[in-house]
This record gives sequence, structure tokens and C-alpha cells, in this order.
Amino acid sequence: MCAFFGRMDNTMKLEIETYGADVLRRAAKPVAQITDEIHALAKDMIETMHEADGVGLAAEQVGHEESICVIDIPKGADKNKDAETFNEGIVMPLVLINPRITAQEGSQRGSEGCLSFPEIHGQITRAMQVTVEYTDLDGKGQTVTARGLLARAIQHELDHLAGTLMIDKFSQLQKMAVNGKLRRLAAAK
Ligand SMILES: [Zn+2]
Repeated sequence: MCAFFGRMDNTMKLEIETYGADVLRRAAKPVAQITDEIHALAKDMIETMHEADGVGLAAEQVGHEESICVIDIPKGADKNKDAETFNEGIVMPLVLINPRITAQEGSQRGSEGCLSFPEIHGQITRAMQVTVEYTDLDGKGQTVTARGLLARAIQHELDHLAGTLMIDKFSQLQKMAVNGKLRRLAAAK
């Protein structure tokens, strides 16, 4: 079901599931052990995200159900320079395994897109700052606090892991505006 493109370093570009795929509505299952397969999946997800020019990708979007997502916000991508300075010590790409948000504050409203919704964007209100606890690829527990665009990406990807999609957060008016595009996406399944 996936189109693979072999690479010299054995990473593979995975097929991105778009709106209408059942897997996007499934809640992820906790990862019990950091196996070689989890390492390979994380690597392939990073590769796939970069190739698609995305800043985040969750397992469901590549047809998996493990609780894992990857995020990579390029330097300079956040218009909120204070947030960028705040996030300076956070090393990208982030691989979040079994992540959960433990604290959040403030709010931000801004445009959001998603690799599973090509050509669809909408204004979504999110927390300005989140603290997330997760397991890293070494199996160690980590905590990170992020602001701005990175905080938005974390919230978006964690929604995916719960089977929640960005259109669920759209206003009724926004949903109506993209209804035709959504129907075409779902019909292409
Ligand atoms: Zn998404």
C-alpha cells in the first residue's frame, strides 16, 4: 500500500494518508519498547516530513498506530521571535514517543495546515505555551516546554495521536468554506 523510494542510508519516504483514511481517526497505542522498528519508523517519518516540506508528522499519517510523532521547525519559520528565542535550546528534529501535555498557558490564534489536508488551511486557537512529557529514542523520559509555532505543532501532532484532526477545531464557517475540498479529498479514497 505504500510507495517506497530506497535511499542510500536506508531511510524510506512513506506514503502520507490524506483525509478520508480511517487510520487518521484512530487513537495511537502506547509504545512499550524502543525497538529497531521504532528507530526505523522515526527516521522514515523525519525523511517523509522533510520531503513533504512539513513541520510535523504523526504516525497515523503514515498508516501507523504507534504513539510517535516528529517535529522540525526550521530556524526563522516562527514570526514570533520571542517564542523562537524561548525555544532556542530545543534540538530539532524532535521525536516524541508516548507524548502528553502536562501544562499549558496563554493562547495564540493563527493559520494551520496539515500534510493530510493538502491545500486546506484554517485559523485555529491553541495554547501559546505547552509542556510535554515524552520518551526519547534512547528510552529516556524527557520534558520540554515550548512556545509559539513549536507549541502549535506539538498540539497539532498530539491531536493526531488522539485521532483528532485540525478541521475538528475549525469554526462552522471555516468548515463550510472548505467543504468542497474535503469532499473531493475523501472521494479520492
Ligand atoms: Zn496534521
